[in-house]
Amino acid sequence: MARYDYNLVAVGAGAAGLVSSYIASAVKARVALIEKNLMGGDCLNYGCVPSKSLISSAKLVHQLNQHERFGLKEIQYQVDFPLVMDRIQEIIEAITPHDSVERYTSLGVECIEGNAKLVSPNELEVNGSLLSTKNIVIATGASPAIPPIPGWKIRLTPLPTASGN
Ligand SMILES: Cc1cc2nc3c(=O)[nH]c(=O)nc-3n(C[C@H](O)[C@H](O)[C@H](O)COP(=O)(O)OP(=O)(O)OC[C@H]3O[C@@H](n4cnc5c(N)ncnc54)[C@H](O)[C@@H]3O)c2cc1C
Repeated sequence: MARYDYNLVAVGAGAAGLVSSYIASAVKARVALIEKNLMGGDCLNYGCVPSKSLISSAKLVHQLNQHERFGLKEIQYQVDFPLVMDRIQEIIEAITPHDSVERYTSLGVECIEGNAKLVSPNELEVNGSLLSTKNIVIATGASPAIPPIPGWKIRLTPLPTASGN
């Protein structure tokens, strides 16, 4: 194929796809970034950001439980878990603009919402359209492997999606 629609297409707008598309765009490549769910991927929406926010609340509780060691007396508090979760959501929302379609579009990346399918080494299908590209970065993340331990039952809670379902 002599000419391509793009120099690079990144599939997945998590940390890896965001960084790849940003760097390619910075060197003036024609770039598309395809995401089927939430911009920011695991790190922003389910991983690093929410976990560190939750851990910071837990650390504060741990310190409050030892307040007398720090020379403080008669501190009373209650953990309101829904409020802890609200704070986590606020932190995610504060960071979301940095990983948004608007920001990446302004950086020169063409953001496409949809589920990409690899059709050939230089072609992807998304939303019924065929895109040709010289290079493809598959940045679709990972999922945990569940070891086959007899009797181990795991209840999987559905994650939030872009549609809010
Ligand atoms: C609880 C937790 C805490 C973590 N804390 C940290 C931390 O503190 N520091 C740290 O460095 N790392 C941390 N990580 C790891 C970090 O989240 C991952 O390393 C990082 O998110 C991986 O980024 P990624 O771009 O490879 O994949 P992902 O973030 O998973 O992004 C992949 C994206 O691809 C999209 N996608 C998949 N298939 C398609 C398709 N066919 N078409 C279009 N889009 C598609 C998905 O919707 C997703 O948005 C943590 C992870 C977890 C679970």
